[in-house]
Amino acid sequence: MKSTIITIGDEILIGQILDTNSRYISQALNTLGVVVAERTSIGDNREQIIQTLDRALTSSDIVIITGGLGPTKDDITKHTLTQYFGSELYYNEQIGEAVRTLLAKRGIEFNDLNRGQAMVPRCCTVLNNAHGTAPGMWFERDGKVVISLPGVPFEMVHLMEDEVLPRLREQFTLKSIVHRTMITAGIAESILAQRIAQWEEALPSVLHLAYLPAPNVVRLRLSAYEVEKEEAAQLIDTQFELLRAIIPEAIVGFEGATVEEAVHRWMIEHNKTLSVSESCTGGAIASKFTAMAGASAYFQCGVVSYSNDAKCDILGVNPDSIAKYGAVSEQVAIEMALGACRAGHSHYAISTTGIAGPTGGSVEKPVGTVWIGIATPEKCFAVCKNCGTDRGQIIQRATAYAIKLLYDSL
Ligand code: ATP
Ligand code: MG
Repeated sequence: MKSTIITIGDEILIGQILDTNSRYISQALNTLGVVVAERTSIGDNREQIIQTLDRALTSSDIVIITGGLGPTKDDITKHTLTQYFGSELYYNEQIGEAVRTLLAKRGIEFNDLNRGQAMVPRCCTVLNNAHGTAPGMWFERDGKVVISLPGVPFEMVHLMEDEVLPRLREQFTLKSIVHRTMITAGIAESILAQRIAQWEEALPSVLHLAYLPAPNVVRLRLSAYEVEKEEAAQLIDTQFELLRAIIPEAIVGFEGATVEEAVHRWMIEHNKTLSVSESCTGGAIASKFTAMAGASAYFQCGVVSYSNDAKCDILGVNPDSIAKYGAVSEQVAIEMALGACRAGHSHYAISTTGIAGPTGGSVEKPVGTVWIGIATPEKCFAVCKNCGTDRGQIIQRATAYAIKLLYDSL
């Protein structure tokens, strides 16, 4: 079963709001077993709505539209759909009363515009909106379904859950869609693709592989569409087991797993502690750890030592090391990590010192150069990474590299 999602609103096209409705509806339909073939955003424009709907109905069995149901002149979806299905609007007493009651509760007077909210096309099934004034509408033509929902996200979600999904489940015989995502870290996408090429080549044809790269992380998603759920899940599990033998060191976990979570669990299980001292990452590493509930069990301190003085005064970095090697150097990264261990009385530490740009780079140390220090009970070392050219990306990559470097040292 194929579907198209159409979100309507000039505010989406000009970038004033993010189209979160499409994301929610995509996830809900995938969970239900409905393939989302296309998502389109269009303006509050009659011709565009008609054209888009025409196209959607040639390829999809289900079309879900959000937005443009409000009482004001700029919202034209309802009128356009009424015309599209060759119907006419009538005043629905029941909706009128519901709108009147809802507005009374909010202390708003019922006026002509609100009266308009209770005008619905004769040919549709009205989907009761218990959380707003614009009802949803369910149209059918030649076995295909067109559903129109309000744009306000929470109203749309309630209507999906209470009205749309149960009806779709009842009306269509649906198979399952199964997605499973393996999280890998530390191997660049192109190298990873090379290492798993044979495995990829031999994948059963029902499984589709996708690479989703992020700083120092590549997510590998296997998807199977319109299948038997248990069978597909087992098939995917088997393939991921084979993959485990090929890239054992890179696998961090599944679905939303992160490297910091793996470190977090390890620290708690082994009763060890961690501190960080950050220059160019400005607290990003500390923030990753402290964002996780239970971090107080092991996270001792995070020092953002941005100036040379702070590196020396707070972390005990030797001023001579800075004078001799520069603040962005192996020696200083090591001393910062040792200083963090001391300051936090911790077993482990991470340090970063680098050039986040856009200025401050040189030929020997271009923008993006980051030294990452790791201190463990046994050793202290530092690794130099080039983290790119864009300031935001440099911070993200350095943060990801640093956490993975610690993870590999545990
Ligand atoms: P209502 O009559 O209940 O206001 P409506 O259908 O008229 O519903 P719109 O006027 O199109 O809704 O949008 C209302 C608000 O909902 C917008 O200001 C916007 O913030 C939000 N919204 C609309 N479409 C989306 C979308 N696709 N994703 C996220 N938010 C949206
Ligand atoms: Mg609108």
